[in-house]
Amino acid sequence: MTDTDILRHIASAFSERKSSAALSNYLVLSNNIKYVNDVLRFAVHVFSGIESAAARSLGTPANCTPDYREPASRAPFTRIIPRVVANGLAVLDKFVLHTAPDDRGGITVENVSKLHRGFMDYNGLVTATRQVVDSLVSDAYQMCLLEPKSLNYHVLVSLNSFDRYVTPSIRQALFTKETSDALAEFRKLSFRDWANSALTRCGEPNFGQKVDFLFRQLGITSEQSFAEELKDIFKFSSEFTHIGYVSTFFSSSQSPEVIFGDDIGPYLPSTENFSELKYRILETVTRLLALVYLPSVTRAWQKMLEANVCMPFAESLAGLVKEMQEHLKTRNAQYYFFVRSGLAKTDKVIELPCICGVVRRWAPPHDSNDLYCKGCGSHFNLMELDGDGGYVITSSGPVRIIGSEAPEFKDLPVVEQVKLMREVDALKRKQPEP
Ligand SMILES: [Zn+2]
Repeated sequence: MTDTDILRHIASAFSERKSSAALSNYLVLSNNIKYVNDVLRFAVHVFSGIESAAARSLGTPANCTPDYREPASRAPFTRIIPRVVANGLAVLDKFVLHTAPDDRGGITVENVSKLHRGFMDYNGLVTATRQVVDSLVSDAYQMCLLEPKSLNYHVLVSLNSFDRYVTPSIRQALFTKETSDALAEFRKLSFRDWANSALTRCGEPNFGQKVDFLFRQLGITSEQSFAEELKDIFKFSSEFTHIGYVSTFFSSSQSPEVIFGDDIGPYLPSTENFSELKYRILETVTRLLALVYLPSVTRAWQKMLEANVCMPFAESLAGLVKEMQEHLKTRNAQYYFFVRSGLAKTDKVIELPCICGVVRRWAPPHDSNDLYCKGCGSHFNLMELDGDGGYVITSSGPVRIIGSEAPEFKDLPVVEQVKLMREVDALKRKQPEP
């Protein structure tokens, strides 16, 4: 290909956009968006409460370890870190608003254009994403380090940019004589020395380097694919917020859309495309919070606070992280159901109750493409069992074989339940422990 060939390809790609297609199930996406958005909103709320209590403890020098008590050089961190976390919480609140589920109440074929998603929606979502990903990673990096020169670098670089254009009233409200003096000192450095001087240091200036550093520090290098996912979401969201030729073209198309429909009502392909991206981003950011950011906050508290003061905060955060991870695991999972052999060939409606609470009524002709949950997107696998046994014993207790004549285990008379459990116990004792 020559340079003009490429230019011609770009011209046709940018002027003849293909109509978008809905490739995923919008209903499942909407349910999952609501679920993960609720998990994130709840986590931010709980974290904010724990953080307020920890910040109060940091305000009392007797609670702090000797290295973080005046006149030690790291004492200022006990005042700086609560501010850093407050910044993270503000950015997270904004992100939670941008990833709320679609409101489909009152949407009809006549007003379905309300669900059209275009440039403003994409730009709002992805700009909020860029901000939250960048902030959480930079802040986690500072909290894992708690190193004076590194924090100086971070703040002075940002102050230096801010000061260039800010209006006098804001400057006056923000800049004390001391900050102005610090900035003047910083500006004496040549650009080459910014990241390594007597006042400043930055060992990992790039986003990707910070991610790798954090994964090493937190001992989560086994999650390498997630580290790459974070670098990818950063590049993707940067494309949108910077010049963004591709993203602007994609999201600002005005071509008419066909109207789709599902159990709830009409929607548009652009609604579905946007939801797919929103869900993906939501999941990545929620994992970033659980896997990287919250453990980094714990690291900082453990360094700054005496062990007995820190313990309840660290335990609460660890509990929150575990809960978030368990919630995430329930989306798009794989579940197994035991069914009586041949049931799928009959004319019976087979009820498949998902762990999320939604029941799939799998009707004849029992198309295997319908073996998924509309509530959480999980896929169902069927294990067909011969014979006329009533229950299968699983790690979570006896489970009724679907299509068998036996009642649900919990509906059996208590005497029958006890008898069955005794038999199970006797069987277990016969087998050597794994
Ligand atoms: Zn489900």
